[in-house]
Amino acid sequence: MPVNRDLPFSQWRLRPQQGEPSYGYFARLVADEGHSSLKIYATEIGINGRNPVPEEMLHVLQQLPLTAEEHERLRRATPLAVDSFHQIGSERLRPKQLSYRRRRFCPHCLADAPYHRIQWDVVAASHCPIHGKRLISEVGGKPLKWWWPHFDVSPDGDELIDRTAAAPDRPLPFHEMLRSRLEFGQREEGWTAAHNLYDLIEASLFYARFTCDGKPAKAKSNSAPDIEAGFAVVSAAHGERVDWFSAWYETVIPADVRRRGFEVSTGWSFMPREATYRASNPLWDALEAAQYEGFARVGTLSRKFSNHDPARTDRTLREAAEELGLPPKGLGPFIKSLNLLPNSKWNGDAHSIDSATFDKIRALVDDLITLPQTKVITGISGTEFRRLAKAGYVREFQHMPVGGVAGPRYFAKEVCQLIERIRLSASEPIEEDMVSIQTHCRKNGFLIGQVVLEVLSTKRYLTALHPLRTGIRALLLRQP
Ligand SMILES: [Zn+2]
Repeated sequence: MPVNRDLPFSQWRLRPQQGEPSYGYFARLVADEGHSSLKIYATEIGINGRNPVPEEMLHVLQQLPLTAEEHERLRRATPLAVDSFHQIGSERLRPKQLSYRRRRFCPHCLADAPYHRIQWDVVAASHCPIHGKRLISEVGGKPLKWWWPHFDVSPDGDELIDRTAAAPDRPLPFHEMLRSRLEFGQREEGWTAAHNLYDLIEASLFYARFTCDGKPAKAKSNSAPDIEAGFAVVSAAHGERVDWFSAWYETVIPADVRRRGFEVSTGWSFMPREATYRASNPLWDALEAAQYEGFARVGTLSRKFSNHDPARTDRTLREAAEELGLPPKGLGPFIKSLNLLPNSKWNGDAHSIDSATFDKIRALVDDLITLPQTKVITGISGTEFRRLAKAGYVREFQHMPVGGVAGPRYFAKEVCQLIERIRLSASEPIEEDMVSIQTHCRKNGFLIGQVVLEVLSTKRYLTALHPLRTGIRALLLRQP
């Protein structure tokens, strides 16, 4: 443990590198202290060691006397929770687009310099743009996790570094874009630079499913979607995109099916409107327009689609549900509980949803997050957070499997507001005998969610806020 009790480490001769997030640098310092478990080290200095929280680790590292430039470098490469996004420098990723549960890496990059690059944690990333090699997440058949702080060997002694020469055998613009934006804080050349990273990733992932081994493929039978191919469709000029869609239809859909029209030829798996954030992602309209044009060259467009107008007129509940990719039994109660159709009788299925209301519903659906995603905001497990929802402190929605993922849904905004309310209520000055909510629960065998409920509804605890911790984990408490 550190010699200097005021600082989290006894030495910091290793310095933060370009694109290195807090947990990567933290790991290197743990190893440099001669320790072989980040988990134990973090726990002993009083932060979450089991599931590292990047922001919390950043706060700890900010205590080290590094240069202002080094601190800034570290901050810009660390994912921070902002408006239910991961903010990295000036880029944003949606919660499910980033994962640091497992360590992923390029063994050739580790040979160049043994530290973690933030772009390896983008879930959609598959390759290293410098060396062209697939990123590695398993060593000796096991996932490599962040409790292990070393970059040269695995816990079982397997080499993590590959010193042989390697170079890409094809350009990797998607991965170069990720590296440029996340490692260097610079956007790429061209018009895609005007778009949000999370929008580009969402659309690229969608179209990645339609290419397999460099050939047009049906999404469902595609065992190896290619994110670079998806990004190629997304980043292409309109004319090139139309060509691509036209070739896709011609290759994958038989001519007699194409003659029967767009909808039959396209099928539900190829409807971009299924995409989760369609309403807020400006790329979808342009992609869809190119898709119609591409189809028109090789198939028969009915009148309905040749006059394609995104602003359709009224929909029934069933139509709205189908368009959003949600079951009516979930969407109905959702609309009803938010009072979005105040004049509807709710005694049958015959609701008329006008375009403006539909857009409103779609925007609200886009704002929903899953139970595991609440953790980014709350800092506590989904199971514990759910106690607050069950007690009515935040609204919970069932049967709304947005993006095909089951489980309850919450409004990101309401979760943020509840956490803010809890944090604001913790207004006592910090005193010696206060303990963190985690310590209190561990010592007494209490459940965190249960104690938070008591904090909200009783005067059993005096509470203060730890200045460096995020979410509910910042609560310090004692019994009066
Ligand atoms: Zn590499």
